[in-house]
Amino acid sequence: MCAPGKGVETLRGLRAKGLSRRAIAAAVESGDLLHLRRGIYADRDTCSPVVTAARHGGRLGCVSAARHLGLWTLAEDHPTHVWMGGAGHAYAHEGCACIAHWDDGPVEQGFALPSIPRVLRQVLRCQGVESFFTALESALRRDELSASGRDWLRDHTNDAAREALAFARFDADSGLESLVRWRLRTWNLPVRTQVRVISVGRVDLLIGDALIVEIDGAGNHDGPAHRHRDLRRDAHAAIWGFVSLRFDYALVVHDWPTVEHAILAYVDRGLHLRR
Ligand SMILES: [Zn+2]
Ligand SMILES: [Zn+2]
Ligand SMILES: [Zn+2]
Repeated sequence: MCAPGKGVETLRGLRAKGLSRRAIAAAVESGDLLHLRRGIYADRDTCSPVVTAARHGGRLGCVSAARHLGLWTLAEDHPTHVWMGGAGHAYAHEGCACIAHWDDGPVEQGFALPSIPRVLRQVLRCQGVESFFTALESALRRDELSASGRDWLRDHTNDAAREALAFARFDADSGLESLVRWRLRTWNLPVRTQVRVISVGRVDLLIGDALIVEIDGAGNHDGPAHRHRDLRRDAHAAIWGFVSLRFDYALVVHDWPTVEHAILAYVDRGLHLRR
């Protein structure tokens, strides 16, 4: 996130803050201010996607806004998704690969990001319901989507999004966990999340009362110490009569059929039930 009070500003806005034209020119000269295009400036510490969106003539939108707001997104960092409002003007700029969103809406003063419900709707339209669902659950977990925001989404989206809104929880622990729950929902399995299992601790998902599914997020399961800890958890789970399946980001996102077949194979054999 950009430092508080830092970001994109119009020439008029800078002048209103009491900066003279001479001071602005000096700040551009020293590098404290970036001159993005005619009449538009940014503080030196402004995040680069924010700068890119302003160069393009808009503000961050969709997955780029979601990421900047700290919501879980399944999309890559690049290109930048830009919200142009309903009547913006796009500018050519160096290295532009922006994906512009032209949905109409109240454009606030300055360069404020779209509201969270609007960001979520942009994600839905651009990236589909799975990305919408993961971003939605992270907004709920962070208590950043009000009841009226959820009502607005119900009224301004589609059936798939309404299903996602009905299915979403407030306590999801990661975007990967959200995605796995969403994809498993059609099988009507007895899935519980963040269950405390004897001698193991909290597990990501427990299917039935005996099948543990662990989802290793990027980064936090690398290295011998973590690998040892994971193996130890699996061994303790086995001692107490649980079976464990462990998947990582690449499997969940890029090879879902394998993940699904593995889980369903265990369920078909009744391994999710205590005997
Ligand atoms: Zn920022
Ligand atoms: Zn988009
Ligand atoms: Zn652009």
